[in-house]
Amino acid sequence: MADFLERVGNVHVHSTLSDGSGTPEEIAQAAGEAGLDFLILTDHNAYAPEKEGWYGRVLLLVGEEIHDPANPHRNHLLVFRAGRDMSAYGADPLALCGAVAARGGLSFLAHPFERSGAFAGEPEINWEAWEAQGYTGLELWNYMSEFKAHLATPGRTLLAAFWPKAFIQGPFAETLAQWDALLAERPVYAVGGADAHALVYRRGPFAKRLFSYRHLFGAVNTHILASAPWQGDVARDAATVYDALEHGRAFVGYDALGATRGFRFEAADGQGVHTMGEAFRPQGAVRWQVWAPRRALLRLIHNGRVIAQGVGRSLAGESAEPGAYRAEVYRRYAGQWRGWIFANPIILQGERGERDG
Ligand SMILES: [Zn+2]
Ligand SMILES: [Zn+2]
Repeated sequence: MADFLERVGNVHVHSTLSDGSGTPEEIAQAAGEAGLDFLILTDHNAYAPEKEGWYGRVLLLVGEEIHDPANPHRNHLLVFRAGRDMSAYGADPLALCGAVAARGGLSFLAHPFERSGAFAGEPEINWEAWEAQGYTGLELWNYMSEFKAHLATPGRTLLAAFWPKAFIQGPFAETLAQWDALLAERPVYAVGGADAHALVYRRGPFAKRLFSYRHLFGAVNTHILASAPWQGDVARDAATVYDALEHGRAFVGYDALGATRGFRFEAADGQGVHTMGEAFRPQGAVRWQVWAPRRALLRLIHNGRVIAQGVGRSLAGESAEPGAYRAEVYRRYAGQWRGWIFANPIILQGERGERDG
């Protein structure tokens, strides 16, 4: 296995180009303060590639979050590397996914399952076009989407605004289950995002910025394993980020519960060591390894079923059964195990090639 460089970024960010409260420059500064390496702006049906660049030590890239303006409360799609504004396809998510793929772009189903926070009156914006083909993956964990789901009463909203870590639990169970179902068919890769807007929420006398970009970039991030060091050249560095996202060489980390840098999930067989996003036909026994940066509850999952788990810094297992293997890590906070790290799968192909592709 090549040596990879871990880079931490946020891939779901809104700016003043749509309904976010910060300019791209302010957002890049907040990302730098939060220790992020890269950002992808995903404004609603707005694409401003001229904003791409290095802002200090932060690489800012520009994608888009696309929806149907006539029907905005469903089928949001994060689009990267399409090279142009794809919002003309917004009314037809199937055509959109196909057109992005045809251009060599990447697409991820944004917040595919939502739960409305009744008090906040937020509509659920689910992905409905499950017959779509050709998308790269899904947004497994959307920080603001989960946060809003917890705002059931005015009291909970007030508490959650000041102590969000007490509420945040992890990806929704229905999103994890759908991911496992999709993985039975083909590789589908996960990202996690802030869905950062940094808007001010007002409920009667209560007003609070939920949350600053700085806060949002210290929460649910996407960590990539980059195959090359930064070149200082935007086009080449963008290619490095997108290559990792395209091939699932990434994990979702909730960095508010402790930095998730250093997490690894690997499989070793007679051919060598394989990492997240890889698919291969095993040679001999396959040994699985999960390493967490701190003591945690680690789980190894095969085709949606937990096959090994334990509390510590690492977890090992052995299985050469075909299928999708992935790892989940939970940390204790305020008396509960909370979602911390969700790895992209490593896929073992069957002997007769039934999982080729
Ligand atoms: Zn959205
Ligand atoms: Zn969004």
